[in-house]
Amino acid sequence: MTAGRAAIVGAGPAGSLLAILLARRGHRVDVYDLRPDPRDGKGDGEGRSINLGLSARGIRALRRVGLWETLRDRLVPMRGRVVHRPDGSAVFQAYGTDPAQILYSVDRDELTTLLVERAAAHEGVRHVFGVRCTGLDRENAGLTLADTVTGQARGVRADFVVGADGAFSAVRAAMQRGLPTDHRQDFLEWGYKELTIPAAPGGGPRVPLEALHVWPGDGALIVAHPNVDASLTATLFLPRTGVPGAPGFDDLTGGRDAVRFLGRVFPGFADLVPDLAAQYAAGPVGTLVTIRTSRWRHAGRVVLVGDAAHAVYPFYGQGMNAALEDCLVLDDCLARHPGDRAAAFGAYQRLRRPHTDILADLSERNFADLRDGTRSPLRLARRQADLALNRIFPTLWRPLYTMVSHTDMPYGEALRRARHQDRVLRWSGAALAAGVALAAVKLTSARRTSP
Ligand SMILES: Cc1cc2nc3c(=O)[nH]c(=O)nc-3n(C[C@H](O)[C@H](O)[C@H](O)COP(=O)(O)OP(=O)(O)OC[C@H]3O[C@@H](n4cnc5c(N)ncnc54)[C@H](O)[C@@H]3O)c2cc1C
Repeated sequence: MTAGRAAIVGAGPAGSLLAILLARRGHRVDVYDLRPDPRDGKGDGEGRSINLGLSARGIRALRRVGLWETLRDRLVPMRGRVVHRPDGSAVFQAYGTDPAQILYSVDRDELTTLLVERAAAHEGVRHVFGVRCTGLDRENAGLTLADTVTGQARGVRADFVVGADGAFSAVRAAMQRGLPTDHRQDFLEWGYKELTIPAAPGGGPRVPLEALHVWPGDGALIVAHPNVDASLTATLFLPRTGVPGAPGFDDLTGGRDAVRFLGRVFPGFADLVPDLAAQYAAGPVGTLVTIRTSRWRHAGRVVLVGDAAHAVYPFYGQGMNAALEDCLVLDDCLARHPGDRAAAFGAYQRLRRPHTDILADLSERNFADLRDGTRSPLRLARRQADLALNRIFPTLWRPLYTMVSHTDMPYGEALRRARHQDRVLRWSGAALAAGVALAAVKLTSARRTSP
């Protein structure tokens, strides 16, 4: 097999990075996306600015294509999270014991623009925006593409197709049609809305900028990432349908109701967003979905990357990082099987899928952790114990969050080690309790026998 023509559907983080990696392997690459060209600076066409937390896996991927240093100035470091308590106070929790363990807030459009520009600098790469993939001929790597304005459809052919078209992937649906596939799609009963905390009138930030801000609440959660212009993009998570006393998006239809509710649950938050009612009323409610699917490829003709293969809830901040890491794993598999694309795609799925399934579980679990755990004294104590042990044994003992966010250890390995650490803590806790009980028994019997 020599380098052939690849057709990538989706110019999000995964599709755009993979275009660069494939071009570097000598492939000619056509990238198709239904959105407008990000290089035109019009955002996603819906006026939303979405920012994401970039961590070790994503950084490693960007380093591989030489973009990390270029992007660095456009990022805001987040050294930990600031948890805003119901009494209005706030507490800072560092991400790790090592000051280098920081996350970075990145504007999604800036990231994809940079990746698209870098890919376009390769002679064999072509981008076509404003086209929707509506069909796939999986045996012949053929695509049907419809212009998003005129609806006019045309067919294109390649040597292989990459589905990088997100959680509701058209490529995945067409590739799997009629073939035995285990497919599980879990919608969270919560949705989300983006809100902007603007910079203060003087141009400075309204809250300390170099942190992720979290407002945990009863039946509601807000997470805010900082932006380079001193504003923050906050994501409000709420159940779609509420219960008496705890309304959801369906109940809070008017901006004023929302301001009253948010003022009650998150004291002080409404003061940070002067036009909260208008923003709330204007913003759409997004859905949150986990996708676990057993078929990531078809022969050597079609392969999935990123959310198309494994969408996860955003509560571990890993979806994009995992999507970028997929591209590295696929790139490595192509390098290891230079004569056999089917073998490369097979190896990629075998290596990657067990870990992204584990990431899906971790991301589901972290929802409860972010919502309730940041307030729970027991969980906070456990976190402190983890950090203390990590300080004493930096290589032997690492909190799960550290392994997931600050290393490129496979997710499954991180979970295995964290479970082992949990067992050690439990045993030492039990041993300590037994020791204390024994001492108490000895003391009591000594008192009884003493004159
Ligand atoms: C609220 C929220 C917060 C998040 N926060 C984080 C975070 O902090 N850190 C993190 O790592 N991840 C985060 N994520 C997850 C992250 O956004 C995704 O995992 C990441 O965008 C996946 O990249 P992708 O390239 O696979 O897919 P996408 O980003 O979804 O890109 C898919 C592309 O395909 C195009 N497309 C779709 N269908 C078609 C079609 N039929 N034809 C042509 N083009 C098509 C789309 O226009 C899009 O450009 C968050 C997600 C959400 C919802």
